[in-house]
Amino acid sequence: MRPSVLFPLFAPVTRLAGVGPRIGELIARAAGGKMVDLLWHLPSDIVDRRHSPTVGDAKPGEMATLTVKVHTHEPSPTRKRPYRVVCGDETGFITLVFFSARNDYLKNQFPIGEIRIVSGKVDEFHGGKTMAHPDYVGTLAQKAELAAVEPVYRLTEGLTPRVMRKAVGAAVNMAPDLAEWADPHLVQRREWPTWHVALTAAHAPQSPADLLPATQARMRLAYDEVLAGQIALRLVRSQQRRARGRALKVAGPLRKKALASLPFRLTGAQTRSLAEIDKDMASDARMLRLLQGDVGSGKTVVAFLAMLNAVESGAQAALMAPTEILARQHHATIAPLAAAVGVKVALLTGRDTGAGRAEVLRQLAGGAIDILVGTHALISEGVDYRDLAFAVIDEQHRFGVHQRLSLSAKGERADILVMTATPIPRTLLLAHYGDLESSRLDEKPANRKPIGTRVLPLERLDDVYPAIRRAINEGARVYWVCPLVEESAETDLAAATERHADLAKRCPNRVGLVHGRLPGKQRDATMKRFAAGEISILVATTVIEVGVDVPEATVMIVEHAERFGLAQLHQLRGRVGRGERASTCLLLYQGPLGETAKARLSILRESEDGFRIAEEDLRLRGGGDALGARQSGMPEFRVADLASLPELLPLASDDAKLLLEKDPELKSPRGEAVRTLLYLFERDEGVRLLRSG
Ligand code: ADP
Ligand code: MG
Repeated sequence: MRPSVLFPLFAPVTRLAGVGPRIGELIARAAGGKMVDLLWHLPSDIVDRRHSPTVGDAKPGEMATLTVKVHTHEPSPTRKRPYRVVCGDETGFITLVFFSARNDYLKNQFPIGEIRIVSGKVDEFHGGKTMAHPDYVGTLAQKAELAAVEPVYRLTEGLTPRVMRKAVGAAVNMAPDLAEWADPHLVQRREWPTWHVALTAAHAPQSPADLLPATQARMRLAYDEVLAGQIALRLVRSQQRRARGRALKVAGPLRKKALASLPFRLTGAQTRSLAEIDKDMASDARMLRLLQGDVGSGKTVVAFLAMLNAVESGAQAALMAPTEILARQHHATIAPLAAAVGVKVALLTGRDTGAGRAEVLRQLAGGAIDILVGTHALISEGVDYRDLAFAVIDEQHRFGVHQRLSLSAKGERADILVMTATPIPRTLLLAHYGDLESSRLDEKPANRKPIGTRVLPLERLDDVYPAIRRAINEGARVYWVCPLVEESAETDLAAATERHADLAKRCPNRVGLVHGRLPGKQRDATMKRFAAGEISILVATTVIEVGVDVPEATVMIVEHAERFGLAQLHQLRGRVGRGERASTCLLLYQGPLGETAKARLSILRESEDGFRIAEEDLRLRGGGDALGARQSGMPEFRVADLASLPELLPLASDDAKLLLEKDPELKSPRGEAVRTLLYLFERDEGVRLLRSG
């Protein structure tokens, strides 16, 4: 049970005064929907309102807090023109400008002849100074309150800085003081503040230096998060180790038959990984292994060959995918291979209902189905296996440890293989999976053609169009990816809809559009038409990452490639180059490029090795390249900065180890504090295991 001191932090943000469902939704999109999410939403910048020059000294372009007398009101003459309030001091005049404002409200706010404090950005218009929509307006008495440094938070479109700041402030105020969970010696040595002091300080930066990950406050919070992760992982692992597995028959006659019927030879990496998996499955310890490899590196085939071990031993296997589409794809890959060796495979997703579902469940319980493929429907109530010995989880970071365990709980001492298409650098692997065994598919099937990657400035778009038209006339299929406009309204990004309209004009009836705001059915339908070749160009935001498999697609165009993270570009590129034909990836960028953006694009031009790209990605991001941290597809920390991981991870790992050696049940006072920490960072699957184990 979650400790009661944390209850308020796990309430929805709509619990706050002034936050209704609409604002709540916007906050949820920017930071998360619970109070605790706001705690981890650290400021990305500051606004310094201490600068309070005279009107004469205020410079256009800078933030200023001015003390002015109200002179005249000039209500808007037409709806399109602004309402103007002329103010000034002994040194000059400044006009406050308001678009579509309510007249009576402004008359109240700015009584003629009175002194007002206004804070905002100074501009220039026809030689006069202006300030449009001051962030703050107050009386002289409120000056101290206004002339301060304020944190700036990442927003979503439609959310004002002020609302976000108030919401985060309220959440921080609500945060209780909690008992120390970190090693007291470490805290002392590092001179770290307590969690509560660190949290408050991190949300009250006074200078740009206070925003750096290396500050005491942010280091402390990052440490807490990493520590929570390490402890949770250790709890899961020790439970796993305690649990006896079963020794399965491996690499028997079924495997030989399957290998003989494959239309290709396994790569060296597949053979090696399979041997590693076999060794685990044959032992009576319970397997928990990660299988990493880019999309198309042949994970599903390896998983299938491993599943035959379970079948060969007279038991069953299951494969769980994060989405309906992926589940169907896995089923499509596996079904013909299984048919060739006489193994029965079925598909079960949330869409299966009624008689069909009942029949699958009956055959599953009876043992007629050997391998079940599906979505999280596989772990739902009422799905009972006759004897599940092996569970494969295609993760893509959508399932938590908790769901992994639920699937394995459907079987008796079932072995688990977790597959991920994101190559994860060693540091991150350790941070997110602990000492989990892992196998890497770092070699492409031999029949794959390399992808020609070109980097071009967006101005060359006019050269791209005719080339694309030629290509589709020859039957090519093209992905055209536009970045999502999400963070800000004032971005100049070419929206996917605009590009779609543009392309549709040039290639009538050949272009489709998918993006995240479309209803799922419509999106699926368009993707199907693209897969069937009814349309040739699929304009998309990054939703296509989630997994469409169209081997005929040979061209990938990414617009504003400089706005994507390295790992994400690599994933996008992996959508092509999957068939027999040569493929091209065109990265269109808007110059001028910064150093890291340049480095990112040139790595992609040089390499297709996902593991190398992931390491480079981490290195670049660790070097202060924040871009793409959220979009990379790699597992994330919420507070911890990647740059500080190499330093914090060994500390946290040792701390976790020592703590659990001394207090494996977390029963000491410090153990109690650690339980709270796990709940705070939502890593409580570990605590649950303590209870059940
Ligand atoms: P992943 O699950 O890693 O995305 P899959 O196992 O689905 O990859 O394989 C992608 C495609 O490549 C499938 O059509 C599969 O049959 C084929 N494939 C897998 N391994 C090989 C190989 N060694 N040689 C040729 N084709 C392969
Ligand atoms: Mg696959």
